[in-house]
Amino acid sequence: METDNPTPPAPKLKNICIRCGTCCAKGGPAFHLEDRSLIDDGFIHTRHLYTIRKGEMVHDNVRSLVMPSSEEMIKIKGVEDSWQCTFFEEEEKTCKIYKHRPLECRILKCWDPSELAAIYEENRLTRQELLAGIAGLWDLVEEHERQCNYAKLKQSLNDLGGSFERAAVKAAISMVRYDQEVRRLVVSRGGMESDMTDFLFGRPLEKTIGQFGYGVRNRDGNFSLVRV
Ligand code: SF4
Repeated sequence: METDNPTPPAPKLKNICIRCGTCCAKGGPAFHLEDRSLIDDGFIHTRHLYTIRKGEMVHDNVRSLVMPSSEEMIKIKGVEDSWQCTFFEEEEKTCKIYKHRPLECRILKCWDPSELAAIYEENRLTRQELLAGIAGLWDLVEEHERQCNYAKLKQSLNDLGGSFERAAVKAAISMVRYDQEVRRLVVSRGGMESDMTDFLFGRPLEKTIGQFGYGVRNRDGNFSLVRV
């Protein structure tokens, strides 16, 4: 049937990068073993990185789901509290480290994420790869993981029950305080720059505990666990 008002042609699907910056605004890449030389050769400093520890809740960009991270990830920090990659130049919509951008950035095609999906969980770079040769520092990172890993935190939160069982509250608060104290000590006594701590120990537990519906309040040195 002919009409005076034919259906307009379907818009062409995008099949090249138009530098819209959307992918860079949605969060920096996770690092893989192939990216290690970018750190070793000084193109990306660890102060620009942070660690997502195993069990931390993350937004999986490939599956578009929020889920516990099945393994550790090292990622590029966002600008302030946003997800926008710290190396994204917003005005020009360019990457400040374009020639040395990590693997995920090089292979991502937003119109066809299959190539990224194929390597997304392969060969992830970990803190152990980068730090195991540094005696003392790696021991500290391992001890931190033993004391306040997400499996322990979640266990203590699961044990709370409706009445905020005392031992479980104490355990959750102790982990948050331990995490705070380690960060404070590596800076004040260890001489570490404060912007290194999210790489060494992951994001602060006092923030990420909110992902599980709880917060720790400090009133004049008295710590309490609250629902948020
Ligand atoms: S490293 Fe560059 S390409 Fe990759 S997300 Fe950041 S700004 Fe974008």
